[in-house]
Amino acid sequence: MTGILMAIRLREAGITDIQILEKADRVGGTWRENTYPGVACDVPAHMYTYSFRANPRWSHRFAHGDEIQDYFEQVAREQGLSETIRFNEAVEQCHYHAGKWYLKTSKGSELEVDFVVSATGILHHPAYPDIPGLDSFGGEMWHTARWNHDVDLRGKRVGIIGTGSTACQVISEISALDCDLTVFQRTAQWVVSVPDKEYSEQEKASLSRNPSRLATLRRRYAFALRNTFSKAVTGSKLPHALVSWMAKRNLRKSVRDPQLRARLTPDYPVGCKRLIISSRFYEAMQRDNVHLETTAIDSISEQGVVTADGKTHQLDVLILATGFKPFDFMRPMDLRGRDGVTIDEAWKKKVQAYRSLCIPGFPNFFLMLGPNSPIGNYSVIAMSEVQTDYVLKLIDLWRRGEMATVEATEDARRRYNEYLKAGMGKTVWVRGCQSWYLDADGDPAMWPYSWEQWVAEHQQPALGDFVREAPDEAEPLRPAA
Ligand code: NAP
Repeated sequence: MTGILMAIRLREAGITDIQILEKADRVGGTWRENTYPGVACDVPAHMYTYSFRANPRWSHRFAHGDEIQDYFEQVAREQGLSETIRFNEAVEQCHYHAGKWYLKTSKGSELEVDFVVSATGILHHPAYPDIPGLDSFGGEMWHTARWNHDVDLRGKRVGIIGTGSTACQVISEISALDCDLTVFQRTAQWVVSVPDKEYSEQEKASLSRNPSRLATLRRRYAFALRNTFSKAVTGSKLPHALVSWMAKRNLRKSVRDPQLRARLTPDYPVGCKRLIISSRFYEAMQRDNVHLETTAIDSISEQGVVTADGKTHQLDVLILATGFKPFDFMRPMDLRGRDGVTIDEAWKKKVQAYRSLCIPGFPNFFLMLGPNSPIGNYSVIAMSEVQTDYVLKLIDLWRRGEMATVEATEDARRRYNEYLKAGMGKTVWVRGCQSWYLDADGDPAMWPYSWEQWVAEHQQPALGDFVREAPDEAEPLRPAA
């Protein structure tokens, strides 16, 4: 999503000497990799598009994964990118030296470039649970981001570990199959029900004919999201009270059995973990073929999941809906900045950047959707658009000779992250739950202020936050090791 966007924007700015490297054989990122049953986007589809390329033909309020994948493929085709992207070519090395980046790819190609934009995404490194005996399981087992479509779940004893956004979508879908499903829940989740409206052909045709209606729809969804969920998580009391009421009411009204309801009731504030948007999850959990298991998992055996009470849950299939490693970003790329410093060394103490994008010591390198982007509050496409415009402004300053290299200072990174930390105390993410938002120190890698503030702060780069004179780099260029 971000790579396509960046290529479009660069070309619009007259920068046409671009190489787009893609490890896979298709565009699509998240939507290419996640093909699990029920995969959909819980941000309303009409605002989950590029601002310059509305789509009047979404089938539902919450678009399904394959439709979103089609959308990105179509945009890439329309923009003539599909023919230029270098598919099946991963960047293995990316080394900076004396004003240039030297890249080596999995096909053995070498590139020398002025700028590198890492549009490698956030939630794409599957996190496999550290449970003893995981590899000894004798049935079929896979992570949700690596769905095995060859296995028919009907008639099978299926276990699923996790109850995050992904698991809830999977459970809502596969519970309707004729399978025996055990849901292993470590922590209950808050769920808000927003009905998934289906658009009729007539409505789609009307939206196609009437772009201003489409634009209004997009604005309304954006307004609603910003003023409810986004504000609720960043400390505004009234939106938080509203969203909490919605989640609690949903649980109370949807789950009839008080014992099941109690087991599905979280013990932390609404929004502390990523809120689940689903009008189907509770219904799925009350099907006769679905069993909720809340006893901790002890181990995995050849037969299935062994819980702490000594019981073995015999399974044919085990689905790991255990999330992602959000701090891995561009890894396993061998990324080295100034003086050969690796990204692991730069981030040894903490995964941080200046404005999520710029890492001191890594000049002319932009990490799109890096740490502390406002993920989890809003549409990720809108985030990429703001960051892309900001990056273009920085590149423009470099082209006009106002910066020798685009590199945030260490001091700017420190001040920026202090500013973020100062805002975290009032957010809901620090109110006593564990989530993928938190880094190893328990600090949320999120944006703690409003969406409007984030946009405003990206309007103009603050020149004082960037290295004004690049260190002396007159020594001869060296190729990547
Ligand atoms: P996740 O939110 O990180 O959830 C992982 C789940 O696995 C949690 O329930 C977690 O339990 C459980 N888990 C992990 N390790 C475990 C272990 N060893 N034993 C037992 N349980 C374990 O991952 P996700 O559901 O894939 O979602 C990640 C993010 O992707 C979401 O928060 C969202 O931002 C995004 N997403 C978005 C959409 C969308 O519609 N836009 C859809 C899917 C995903 P604990 O809670 O106890 O840690």
